[in-house]
Amino acid sequence: MLLEAHAVSKSFGDFFAVRDANLSVGEGEIVGLIGPNGAGKSTFFNCLAGDAVPTSGKIIFDGQDMTKAPPEAHARLGIGRTFQVPATFEGMSVIDNVMVGAFLRHPHQGDARDHASRIIELTGLKAQMDLAAHSLGTPGRKRLEIARVLATNPRLMLLDESLAGLTPTELQEAIRLVRKIHEMGITIVIVEHIMEVIMTLAGRVLAFNQGHVIASGRPEDVVKDEAVIEAYLGRGSHRVRRRSA
Ligand code: ADP
Ligand code: MG
Repeated sequence: MLLEAHAVSKSFGDFFAVRDANLSVGEGEIVGLIGPNGAGKSTFFNCLAGDAVPTSGKIIFDGQDMTKAPPEAHARLGIGRTFQVPATFEGMSVIDNVMVGAFLRHPHQGDARDHASRIIELTGLKAQMDLAAHSLGTPGRKRLEIARVLATNPRLMLLDESLAGLTPTELQEAIRLVRKIHEMGITIVIVEHIMEVIMTLAGRVLAFNQGHVIASGRPEDVVKDEAVIEAYLGRGSHRVRRRSA
């Protein structure tokens, strides 16, 4: 297994955002994470990427215990993650943002620039490469976030709603990009609300609710799982009720 998370929990005070989550990801897989807002998906990613230290549990990547390692160690070992809210340097150009990622393995500026240019090309950002990051729209920002992480040469990419907020056409392009990244040999764990994305990309899915993994298996089975449907409907009806109140 490339990544193994054993009984990972993360609490804030006495509230458990993630509780006893298990996940094993083999090299070359695309695993989907679904679940309603607040289910703990991003917090789980934080634990996997070293942006948060789990309260308990263990995370092993490529045989190394990463449970308490800092984010830099994760990046160096090959775990890259995108943030749900893109972590771009707003005033910097697109190419400079990607170079920040490229510097991880290319300490010399010229090499980093060459590497970043290749990633820019691959991610379809060439026309915008000299623009400031803040001038990009949602699809551009999502792409830039992916490009910055891709430039670190990850073996595993954790994509946190990287395809959210796109038009149907942009969504298809983004799906193609994820496929291309996968074909490069990069293993992927993707958090996504749009079922179409999960069904077309993921070979296996985990569903979260209230910090727990409530179902896992083939996407076509998980979407039919009663606990999963309940988790989504429960939230949905609650929201409708609140709105009409
Ligand atoms: P998801 O990504 O599935 O929408 P999150 O992981 O962002 O869910 O959040 C899970 C729960 O943990 C939410 O109730 C959220 O408010 C809470 N939470 C996340 N981060 C913190 C934090 N730093 N402090 C306190 N509560 C947090
Ligand atoms: Mg989230």
